[in-house]
Amino acid sequence: MPYAALQTELRQRETQGLLRRRHTLDSPQSPHIVVAGKSYLTFSSNDYLGLANHPQLIAAWQAGAEQWGVGSGAAHLVTGHSAAHEELEIALAQFVGKPAALLFSTGYMANAGAVQGLVGKADYVFADKLNHASLNEAMRLSRATVKRYRHNDVSHLAKLLADAPQGRKLVITDAVFSMDGDIAPLPDLLALCERYDAWLLVDDAHGFGVLGAQGRGALVHFGLTSPRIIYMATLGKAAGVFGAFVAAEQVVIDTLINHAPSYVYTTATPPSVAHTTLASLRLIEAGDDRRAHLQTLIAQLHEELQDLPWTLMPSDTPIQPLLVEDAHTALTLSAKLREQGIWLSSIRPPTVPTARLRITLSATHTAADVSHLGKALHDIAR
Ligand SMILES: *Cc1c(COP(=O)(O)O)cnc(C)c1O
Repeated sequence: MPYAALQTELRQRETQGLLRRRHTLDSPQSPHIVVAGKSYLTFSSNDYLGLANHPQLIAAWQAGAEQWGVGSGAAHLVTGHSAAHEELEIALAQFVGKPAALLFSTGYMANAGAVQGLVGKADYVFADKLNHASLNEAMRLSRATVKRYRHNDVSHLAKLLADAPQGRKLVITDAVFSMDGDIAPLPDLLALCERYDAWLLVDDAHGFGVLGAQGRGALVHFGLTSPRIIYMATLGKAAGVFGAFVAAEQVVIDTLINHAPSYVYTTATPPSVAHTTLASLRLIEAGDDRRAHLQTLIAQLHEELQDLPWTLMPSDTPIQPLLVEDAHTALTLSAKLREQGIWLSSIRPPTVPTARLRITLSATHTAADVSHLGKALHDIAR
């Protein structure tokens, strides 16, 4: 067998409770999913506003396909860039308060492109230790010298910046940490970037659509407008569709168009997707009721999950991690919940330093859904 070594590695992962497997859904995204013929209440999706299966967006996708066909046929720099993409970029830039925006196929690629396009071998990247894996991959690809600071530790970052020699400096952070749900101290990070003449790349994958007035994201949440900030957000989470964008000064966007490999060397996403995302942007903007309902659910969850052997991490966002002892406990809890018809994914090392159940709430959850989860967890604890 030419793959004996791979087989051994996989078995090792399995005995450590770390083997990853996929589950096949037979239903669209919603708080109620169907897997292998059984229906489950789920708290594992990033569809925070419940737009992934929204009738208006399904209609927009159909209309977009009628108008534009299904494929983009080429990269943006060749003949793949349509008026639908262009219109969406202008709308996104305006929505988040930046001069320009650039669409990428995925958030993973946006991060890779932004970091590789802006810094190289002679430069320095400063990154929060709990940043998303795609940002960590992006730093490695850039070949810049990487300095990691303790999670949200502004004074640690200050020290690293003060010690850095000449060269471009790029500070990178999640706005809302994807596995913890807490929010980065962006005003303090920006003040440091100003003091040390660094750029600040903010990954708002979990804040866009959720934080700030009309869901405009983390920068609006904090009232930050600095040209030093390079803003990135994804369109497959709260926006419910697919893709990602970087919004920044025009010179930054022009640099990425020229120097971001994950932008240049890939086929543009279908124009119908851009058309759909534009419709999603209007729903996000008008979605204050959805966001208010989410806040109510978050408060309710904290009430319901008191007095358990496991604790919710402090978070005001729809990401509500429940910390457990270890990877095996996470798996066992997850399995017991599943017996009760609740689908909740365990997140284990190496994705996170400590095992947890990552509870995510969506505006399409009801108060009864949250009570149901609370009751199930208390039953299992007994
Ligand atoms: C999901 C996520 C990404 C990747 O976005 P995709 O569009 O799924 O590739 C990047 N950064 C963070 C913080 C994320 O949570």
